[in-house]
Formats: sequence, C-alpha cells, structure tokens
Amino acid sequence: MRRKVIAGNWKMNMLPNEAIDFINALAPSVKNTSNETILCVPYTDLFYSLLTVQETNIHIGAQNMHWEENGAYTGEVAPEMLKCINVEYVIIGHSERRQYFNETDETVNKKLKAALKHELKPIVCVGETLEERESGRAEEVVTMQILKSLEGLTAEDLQNVIIAYEPIWAIGTGRTATSEDANNMCKTIREKIKEKFQSDDITILYGGSVKSANAKELFTMSDIDGGLVGGASLKVDEFSKIVNFDK
Ligand code: PEP
Repeated sequence: MRRKVIAGNWKMNMLPNEAIDFINALAPSVKNTSNETILCVPYTDLFYSLLTVQETNIHIGAQNMHWEENGAYTGEVAPEMLKCINVEYVIIGHSERRQYFNETDETVNKKLKAALKHELKPIVCVGETLEERESGRAEEVVTMQILKSLEGLTAEDLQNVIIAYEPIWAIGTGRTATSEDANNMCKTIREKIKEKFQSDDITILYGGSVKSANAKELFTMSDIDGGLVGGASLKVDEFSKIVNFDK
C-alpha cells in the first residue's frame, strides 16, 4: 500500500538503554505526524524497543532474518522468533548484507517469502554500485534485482512490501543521489512492478545519506514515498526533523 514512510536503520549501533532513551525522546515529536515512523534496531534492542514504543506511533523492525523456520543455523534468527515478540518490519537484502555476508537476489527472495508467510512486513533493498551507474547499467541492474527478488509474489503480497532504492555509492558516504536521479529510479521500479503485477500500489523509499537538509526535496518527488535513513537516524533531533519533513 502506497504511503509515506520514514524508516531508521540503526545498523550495529545502540545499546538497549540508548534505544530506550532514544525512543522516549523521539516519541513526543512524531506523535502528530501521519508519516509512518519505523526504527529498525539490532536484535538485542528489539524487545526493549517494542516495550518502549507501546502507546506511541513508532513501529519497530529488525535488520535481517533467516528464511528457514528453525534448525542448525548457528547465530541466525528465524521469522517466527521475530513475529512472536511482535516485531512488525524486517529489512531484507541491505547492501551491507549483500556486500559483507554474500546475500544474493535468490536469498533475498527466500527471505521475502518467509517474512510474508509469517506476516512480517519486509523492507527490500536494491541499488547499484558506482561502477554500474557510471557504465550506464544502473537501471538494468536495479530492474534485475527487483524482478528476481519479487519472483513468485502476488499483487496482494505487494500490499505488505516496501521497496528501498539505495544506490550503494550514496550509503554512508555523504553523497546523495540528485532528487531527479533518485525519482527516476523509483519511477522505473514502479513501472517494472506494474508490468509484472498489474499494480503499482507499493511504497518505494529512497536511501543514501538522507538528512534533514535534503529530506523534503527527496520525499516530495512524485515517485519517492519516504526514506530509509542510516546515520541520521542515530540522532533524535535530526531523525525527528526528517520524519516531520512536511511540517
Ligand atoms: C542505510 O543504511 O540504509 C543508509 C541509507 O545509510 P545512510 O543514510 O547513512 O547513507
């Protein structure tokens, strides 16, 4: 379902006490927004964060999960383990997972199906490298990622899926895609999804060095429905301004 969403990705940062303090400080400043506010926190913060967001309009997500139900997968976390403590969202296929932990479009597809089966809402990340952009292959690369990642899903499934377009060269680098380039790619993704599923009613976020200074310009583009925010989601004031970009 297409709506405005601002999701923070804390990556491997924040201890439980810091998570609790952050949420308590953020909650009053986002309570009147209609933009959906999500924090994707480390596993060890999930339970504390879920308790702290009760009676707020902040939603909690994990940053990864395995696709198997259970078994001999030391160190992994199964979908049901997230669902049973009321985790709502899960990031799937972040470029850091693809780069450092060998995730592929195939594993992303398995995780996506497992998340939907367990009624978790996936935030699926796609995006090209600098070399792919400079050689004019960005659209082709991102289109393939989308088609392979969403393989086997239905239009109904897409109602619970969020796509995050995150050009890899813009993540954590301070280098943001221009609003036109970011919008063009989000538009292409929407068109490809429409061709495949006969529906383009899907939320598509931009991610890559989003900050309060550029959030409004990016999030008011025709095909960008909000953002996945890394570094700037670690500072309460900055993240609150990004969530309230339209105020
Ligand atoms: C991210 O981690 O998804 C991200 C976009 O990071 P940053 O905002 O720091 O570039």
